[in-house]
Amino acid sequence: MIVMKFGGTSVEDAKAIDRVASIVEGRLAKQPVVVVSAMAKVTDTLLTMARAAGEGERKTALKLCRSLQERHYNTASELLGTALFTEFHSELGAEFEALDELLRGIAAVGEITPRTTDHVASFGEVLSSRIVAAAFAARGLKGAHVDSREVLITDSAYMSAIPHYEETNARLQEKVTPLLDSGQVPVMGGFIGANRAGITTTIGRGGSDFSAAIFGAGLAAEKIEIWTDVDGILTTDPRICPDARRIKVISFDEAAELAYFGAKVLHPATVLPAIQKNIPVYVLNSCNPSCEGTRITTRAPQGKNIFKAIAAKKRITIVDVAAPRMLLAHGFLRAIFEAFDRHKVAVDVVSTSEVSVSVTVDSNQAIPALAADLAKLADVKYEGRKAIVCLVGENLRQKPGIAGLVFRELADKKIRMISQGASEINLTFVIEEDEVPEVIQRLHKTFFAELDPEVFA
Ligand code: ASP
Ligand code: MG
Repeated sequence: MIVMKFGGTSVEDAKAIDRVASIVEGRLAKQPVVVVSAMAKVTDTLLTMARAAGEGERKTALKLCRSLQERHYNTASELLGTALFTEFHSELGAEFEALDELLRGIAAVGEITPRTTDHVASFGEVLSSRIVAAAFAARGLKGAHVDSREVLITDSAYMSAIPHYEETNARLQEKVTPLLDSGQVPVMGGFIGANRAGITTTIGRGGSDFSAAIFGAGLAAEKIEIWTDVDGILTTDPRICPDARRIKVISFDEAAELAYFGAKVLHPATVLPAIQKNIPVYVLNSCNPSCEGTRITTRAPQGKNIFKAIAAKKRITIVDVAAPRMLLAHGFLRAIFEAFDRHKVAVDVVSTSEVSVSVTVDSNQAIPALAADLAKLADVKYEGRKAIVCLVGENLRQKPGIAGLVFRELADKKIRMISQGASEINLTFVIEEDEVPEVIQRLHKTFFAELDPEVFA
């Protein structure tokens, strides 16, 4: 069997869901389990209405709820036609009645808790999965809705609940496997689950990919397909380099580096359960289903090119901490990083010298407060409008002299920090933010002019 996960834009309206149905139809022989996100933007809207209700703004919350109801009704009626929609109407209606009641309750109490937040947020996936299952059935696809809250069993850490794998796997065997055996297409909402007491939980924003990986691992899927609105993972941002090319196959480690350094790709941490079981994950485009996408696997062929991709992360600030008197005395680094920790500022690149430490952080973090704190320890300077550029490829491990090749291309540029991570598969440096396009274009031209067809499309 396989798992096919469709993100919010892939189910955003009737047309999109129609496309999903025909993509799934083409895979029936593989016994798909379909996992869907909420329709695009719905989770955001649900959280807004939960907050409004929590602030006692009952009218605002209910108004948002009605517009959401309208959108789901319109989508369903367009997909199902009048006769079928009349039958299905009460199923959707019951959900909206429950949501309406919940919002009134929250507004009456005037308080929103993590538990009620999850309850409100869960409606997005509950609704989308019901609509998609009904749309499949209307197209002769034997769609069978499965309520993920009866399958994905989690702890009670609302808003970022952690799965209990053994119980979840047992539920998969009990509730999903029989459907597959009888030739049905299970349709499940991502993102949502329930604790052992049956109370609704969610596993964190963007969690549907994680759900797909949990289900795929539990059912020993042959592969997991993550359907989005891009052709897969590209060699670089196509808005910067129009000649960016699709990567056919990439390792989990490479994809993780890219995700960390700003590339808009699936974050491999979210598909860890699949990685651990060696189940390949594909990134595919629901608007261009014949494109083969990108395959992410534990070990990927490396091909002849040194790098797989170039990513850039903008809005970076360099923080320089100089300690002329202490000469990086014992405990100094610890004191510095404790300050970062206290201010909950995450650090990306670090470089040290005998007398100073430079680190990069996201510019939108609480830097002035952090700097004031650090100033008690040492001299502190910080400078914004920087960017991290990251070249990724497992071939970096073997080949010497690569840094020389890269920096020769950038001889006229001011390179601020350089690091080759312990993973040995990325070469990272910091430049002025406004030089990102030119630097990436030059490097792309140098390292991606001729591409190994085994690895690149
Ligand atoms: N709908 C949820 C969110 O927007 C989960 C997901 O789409 O993956 O965060
Ligand atoms: Mg998503």
